[in-house]
Amino acid sequence: MSTVEDRWHRVLLRQMRRAGLDLDALPQEPALTGLLDRISATYAEADQERYLNDRAFALSSGEMLELNERLRRAQATELAVERDRLQAVFDAVAIGLVVVATDGRVIDLNPSAEALLGSTSRSTVGLDLGEVLGPAPDDAASQSAFDALVSSARTGHAWRGADVHLATPIRRGFPANLAFAPLFDDLGPAGGVLAITDTTERAEAQAELAWRASHDALTGLLNRTALHELLHWSLDRRRVGGARVAVLFIDLDRFKLVNDSLGHAAGDALLVAAVTRIIAATRAHDTVARLGGDEFVILTEHIADPQEAMQLADRIVRALATPFTLDSELAFVSASVGVAVSDASSTAASLLRDADVALYRAKDAGRSRAVLFHQSMHDDVADRVRLERHLRHALDDNELSVAFQPIYTALDRRLAGFETLVRWDGPDGWVDPGLFVRLAEDTGLVGLMGDWVLESATDFMTLLSRRGLAHIALSVNLSSIQLGDPMLPARVAELVSRMGAPPRQLMLEITETALLAEPDLTRERLHELRACGVRVALDDFGTGYSSLSALRDFPLDALKIDKSFVGGMIDSGRDRAIVAAIISLGHALGMTIIAEGIETIEQCDAVTALGCDRLQGFLLGHPLTPADAEALVADALGGRP
Ligand code: C2E
Ligand code: MG
Ligand code: MG
Repeated sequence: MSTVEDRWHRVLLRQMRRAGLDLDALPQEPALTGLLDRISATYAEADQERYLNDRAFALSSGEMLELNERLRRAQATELAVERDRLQAVFDAVAIGLVVVATDGRVIDLNPSAEALLGSTSRSTVGLDLGEVLGPAPDDAASQSAFDALVSSARTGHAWRGADVHLATPIRRGFPANLAFAPLFDDLGPAGGVLAITDTTERAEAQAELAWRASHDALTGLLNRTALHELLHWSLDRRRVGGARVAVLFIDLDRFKLVNDSLGHAAGDALLVAAVTRIIAATRAHDTVARLGGDEFVILTEHIADPQEAMQLADRIVRALATPFTLDSELAFVSASVGVAVSDASSTAASLLRDADVALYRAKDAGRSRAVLFHQSMHDDVADRVRLERHLRHALDDNELSVAFQPIYTALDRRLAGFETLVRWDGPDGWVDPGLFVRLAEDTGLVGLMGDWVLESATDFMTLLSRRGLAHIALSVNLSSIQLGDPMLPARVAELVSRMGAPPRQLMLEITETALLAEPDLTRERLHELRACGVRVALDDFGTGYSSLSALRDFPLDALKIDKSFVGGMIDSGRDRAIVAAIISLGHALGMTIIAEGIETIEQCDAVTALGCDRLQGFLLGHPLTPADAEALVADALGGRP
């Protein structure tokens, strides 16, 4: 099966990783994969072209020696036919060939060399090589390469140099690969042949690729990756000089409205028009970057005091406050700007985060304004609210992914299944699931998020069953809020129907909070879910307040012993006794017992000795990406961890 590594060019993959894109979480949209395929193909073409150039380069100098040898033989035997043929080759090759005498005078040149040097052989022959060709001015590296060439020609040594910048009477500073092959006659060195390959096109293609990797295609501004790098670099430099750097985080207000009502083409046109205004408001040495969507950042250096940055921010706000005309329609967007100014401890990430916090304040205070970051804004509430704002976009922006942690049978340590765990690569890196799941619950986003996780899990299940691996079970965590949704059983039934594996392979994990908060509703919902054929497990058992006897009242298939007990078992006889009691009572009620959070061999052996059925924990396996989980399943077919 083809992996992402097979599919996309390594440079592209590196760029994507550097930009923090989780390849496995990319949506399988034809437009996106098509674009990535095209970029990958462009990289591959550039590789191919470079390879061909290098081959041509190697061949040309190797061939030159042979050509020269044969020329001499032809002359000696006066084989006119051979000489004519060699002359034809000399005239036809696309590489510029200049034959020079020992004293550096040009004796002959082929049409390709004439084209490169902008001369005809008549005007060039007899001139010193240095009069028709030289290094590009003010280019020390090319100057020394050229000096080495001249001295090799004089002493009769082979020489070659890549990417030397040449100047000729008609062209300044074009890149070329050079190879000098010495010729010898009976008396010794007799000049030689200089092969010149113009590599301008290749250099242009490389420059184009480099440009594309660091710029946003729509606006031509620097992209997020390039901005980060620039910011790092400029902070490092400023730190030495003591000057300050300001970051202005700009977000267009109501842009989504324009995009949704007038369409994406109008949205794009508006972004381009907004960029023109932003650039007009900046100073010559300010840098503007597009972070994505309607978010822009201005990086401005040499800031004497924060007010200077605020003046710039106010200019931006004013510049974007006037309506835009799009297809004879007026579009009203405005801009909110958050400003942060560096101090000695600033990093690229902290500066962007501070500017983002200030931006949030600007939006909160009524939009179309600029706010300067102050340390006091950095309280928990601001962080939380900011995180919440990002979480709202996380699903749309494909920042969520799932990881699969393996679960093994206790007795013979066979791979029994996985627990699906949601992951979020947020604005400042990975966010603790404990934190954002709670945030999602508080903000009503957990429904959407939970549906997405369920769908990702069943997609994975479908994939496994297509590969004939349907014996693997998959657990999915449910929030108590999801459990309260009357539509949940119908949705689960629908997902299970297209899973391609028996419904019982899907296990839903609920927490004690759900049992305790609304016991009657929960019991009914659990019955409905089990009627779909899926199984239900009680997660983190022992952290809530439900008693073992309360378990009888709920239709449960499995019990997961919380990691705090598993962790405490070795040192605490009490914890061990509790675990033993949970296992025997759970078994008496017909439940499967899973121990989670197993980190050491002692814990593993202890829970196994107590009769636990399934094992999960870092000792046996960390949460894996879907691709790694799939590979593990394939490996473990019949094997052991
Ligand atoms: P959980 O359901 O009890 O999941 C197990 C947690 O323990 C995971 O943390 C896992 O990475 C961690 N873990 C596994 N083995 C070990 C170990 O040996 N030692 C230690 N110290 N930890 C171990 P994670 O992924 O951070 O998830 C935390 C919690 O977030 C989960 O606890 C679950 O309650 C919640 N959660 C995760 N994904 C979802 C989801 O998709 N939906 C909902 N509603 N909640 C989720
Ligand atoms: Mg769980
Ligand atoms: Mg758990």
